[in-house]
Amino acid sequence: MSKCFQTFFALLFFFYGFEALSKSTSTTKLQTKRFAELPAKLEIYKKAVLATYDLKLLPNLKSLEQEAQAVDNKSVQAEALLLVALLKHRYGDYRESLTLNQAALDIAMELRDPGLLIKVYLSIVGLEVSLERFKQANEKMQKIDLLMAKLPAVSRLKAKINLWKSRIYFHQGSYLQALYVLDSAINKSNANKDVFVELLIEKAKVKLRLGEHIQAQNLLDQIAHYNIGNQYQYTQLIIKVLKAKVYLQAGLFVKAILTAQDALKSTFHTRFLEQQAELQHTLASSFAQIQDYQWAHLYLKRFAFTQKALDLQKRNNKLLQLEAKFDFEQQKQQLTLLEKENAIKQQQIMQQKQAIENTALTQQRIILIVVLLFTLLFFMYWRWQSKRTLNILEQQVAERTQELALRNKQLQTLSYTDSLTNSFNRHFLFTHIDEYLPQGNFSESTIMCLIDIDHFKQINDSYGHSAGDVVLKSFVKVLKSTIRQNDVVIRWGGEEFLLIMPNISRKAAAEILERIRLNIEEYDFTANNERISVTASFGFTPIPLVPDKSILDWEQTIELADFCLYLAKNGGRNAWVGATGLVDHEPFDAKSILRDTRALITQRKLKAISNCEDIIKSL
Ligand code: GH3
Ligand code: MG
Ligand code: MG
Repeated sequence: MSKCFQTFFALLFFFYGFEALSKSTSTTKLQTKRFAELPAKLEIYKKAVLATYDLKLLPNLKSLEQEAQAVDNKSVQAEALLLVALLKHRYGDYRESLTLNQAALDIAMELRDPGLLIKVYLSIVGLEVSLERFKQANEKMQKIDLLMAKLPAVSRLKAKINLWKSRIYFHQGSYLQALYVLDSAINKSNANKDVFVELLIEKAKVKLRLGEHIQAQNLLDQIAHYNIGNQYQYTQLIIKVLKAKVYLQAGLFVKAILTAQDALKSTFHTRFLEQQAELQHTLASSFAQIQDYQWAHLYLKRFAFTQKALDLQKRNNKLLQLEAKFDFEQQKQQLTLLEKENAIKQQQIMQQKQAIENTALTQQRIILIVVLLFTLLFFMYWRWQSKRTLNILEQQVAERTQELALRNKQLQTLSYTDSLTNSFNRHFLFTHIDEYLPQGNFSESTIMCLIDIDHFKQINDSYGHSAGDVVLKSFVKVLKSTIRQNDVVIRWGGEEFLLIMPNISRKAAAEILERIRLNIEEYDFTANNERISVTASFGFTPIPLVPDKSILDWEQTIELADFCLYLAKNGGRNAWVGATGLVDHEPFDAKSILRDTRALITQRKLKAISNCEDIIKSL
């Protein structure tokens, strides 16, 4: 049972669905058809409007607009609105015309259709020209020019634009400019008849205004070739107006009057108010020329009325308010533009600021690098300079140190030297004694020998003190020439010397001393050209006194040598005596040796030798 229901409902849905689908399809088809038909319809209405400007067309246009809206054919809708606006304009209803133009403009903006936009702007230009707002008209023309750049060449539109440009020039009194624009449009134009005729009419108007009626006549003749049908009431009327004016200018006043009067019959309608005024003016002028002042006055009065009506149309308060509204809209648009411009400018300023900042940063970096480079260079120069100065200073210091060392050495030498004899002095001995003493095992010995010149006092006394000095010098020379290279002579005091002979045996030392004694004895000491006989006595002791044993130190050794010298002096002088060692290697201490020297020698405990054996024996 339920299955039966299900099938039933399914079928029901299917049929309904199909019907709805076919219905909608047929509706769409119809709509598409209507959509396609609309432009043709529009063209028919357009022609009718342009020919007659008849208000009767208004309901048709309105229904066309609604139809276009219904099938969403926006461009037809906009154009229908423009045609209505044109009619309203012609009848002086500028307020309504403005609103309609605005509505058409909104649609054109929405569609972003440059061709349509141009048409809307041209319509607004017409309105602006009628309102004598040429600045605004020119602004619209500029917009149109910009839009034209986006469009491929459409000669009809171009011709229309030029037509309006010339009209603006004409109304502003720039007749030559108007002519120029018209001529270029006429020369280039391969547009359709309507536009071409409009261009020629416009040119004839300008020529008339310039008083060139023959050329105006030629143009009218040219227009006549186009056989404009009677249905083009408006064009026909305009041509008649122009003809009347040509006759007036040519001085054919009667012809002018007849033409104007004939034309005037078809102008008693609000939409031809302008032409009416023009004709009335022409008639008044023509009658005045034939001196029919009554008629002239009558037409002048009529002209004044018509003109007043025209002025009223243009200048009522409502209109002004609307103008203000229109201005407001424009201002709003301009404000938006300005805002955009401001934003762009701000962005540009920001970019410039950024660029300036970047440049400043780069400059700062460069300055920093330059400063660093200079600092580095200066530092390097400073270091080089200070190094150079330091080198010079170091060199100077080294030189001074060297000089000082030399001076020190000289000074030291001086301080170690006896100035008279040029031998070492006692100071030298005290500082250098260690170098001459035997080191380590005492296997070698050093001989310390005191030498004293005999009876030197007598020499001084006999030959003078300076002669004594000469003797002292010569004495040291002899001494030095006899001793070995490593032996040292020290002036011990007065005419007494200490001879140190390092690393020498007792026997060798005795031999050297004997040689010295003999050399002195044999040497020719002279003073004041006199030979002086000089001898010397010697007392010596080795250190160590006993090999490998340290009993006497060097001072005690000299003391023992001094005792030996005393023995040599005592024994008759010109002799040497040496205490050379202990006999049985008895353990004598220094003190007893120095105290009991004589006894120890006598007892043969302290060994003593001399060049003169008697000295020892006689003790
Ligand atoms: P002796 O044989 O006992 O040594 O007798 P001497 O006359 O040599 O000894 P003495 O000590 O009595 O005299 C030494 C003299 O030497 C006394 C002093 O005037 C003199 N004399 C000391 N030094 C110098 C000197 O530098 N130049 C001179 N010309 N005489 C000096
Ligand atoms: Mg002496
Ligand atoms: Mg002496």
